[in-house]
Amino acid sequence: MLKLLKFEKKAEKAMAKTALFTHASFLKHKMGDVNPESPARLEKITELMFASGAESQIEKYEAKMVSYTDMLAAHDADYLQYLSRMSPKEGMTVINEDTAMNPYTWEAAQLAAGAGCQAVDGIMASQFQRAFCAVRPPGHHAHRDHSGGFCFLNNVCIAALHALGVHGLKKVAIADFDVHHGDGTSDILGGREDVLILDGFQEALYPYAHLHHCPTNAIYSPFPEGTEGEALRRTMDEVWFPALLEFKPEMIFISAGFDAHREEDQAQLLMVERDYAFLGRRFVNVLEALPDCKGLVACLEGGYSMSSLARSCVSFVRQLAS
Ligand SMILES: [Zn+2]
Repeated sequence: MLKLLKFEKKAEKAMAKTALFTHASFLKHKMGDVNPESPARLEKITELMFASGAESQIEKYEAKMVSYTDMLAAHDADYLQYLSRMSPKEGMTVINEDTAMNPYTWEAAQLAAGAGCQAVDGIMASQFQRAFCAVRPPGHHAHRDHSGGFCFLNNVCIAALHALGVHGLKKVAIADFDVHHGDGTSDILGGREDVLILDGFQEALYPYAHLHHCPTNAIYSPFPEGTEGEALRRTMDEVWFPALLEFKPEMIFISAGFDAHREEDQAQLLMVERDYAFLGRRFVNVLEALPDCKGLVACLEGGYSMSSLARSCVSFVRQLAS
């Protein structure tokens, strides 16, 4: 009996395929009292992750700082120097109208980018197959040479380039379902034949860049105001997932923003928790259907209505972990 129990414990351990990366320093980065990209976002996610029991399905890791070389693969050296220079010893430095740095911001940004690279390393070492990086600041509005929309370093781009450059993967895909267009991601990885970008967002919403240019390696899926979750799901099933199956990426990166939820003030799409669960399930289905795909790494992007952010995020992560 004792032997059987031991065996069951081992089997349970081997089944823990999903990792969660986070760090206490993510709660120290603040951009003022009225900025919606606040530490409370992560606190709410962590609380619900624990209360819902989802925590038992995942293995937690502490994020580590990104290497300078990894940052340099996605960003200009001048820009990295600028961020380091702008990082205040005390008080706050305003970078642009919605983005600011306090004394902890630069460290948090480097930890957020480091989490994605660490997740890639863990997948390549067969420690786990799926990872969720519960990080802030977010990354998909960070361009090669400038920040914007609460973002400093482009976390998914840095992790994707780490997979290609350091681990020698031949091709990767990035899927972005945040309600805002991931303009920084298209700026950094647009035009590359070894990267497929899938980007779904509310049309005519910040940052408006999609109105002008869609790179050759990207599929943009703009949705009008008031689009229901069912229409979003149909696009995923008819456009995104077939594209992923055809491209056959060796790793999938996800810009996981939860601001397309119907309770969100920042936008007017009508997704609900089960839509995010659907997305999580489908990404796992795709992963399972691609024998050469080593894993997936999802990084938290937007989501500002505290309650719906936590519920949506946990619904998504539970699917990754099941
Ligand atoms: Zn967003």
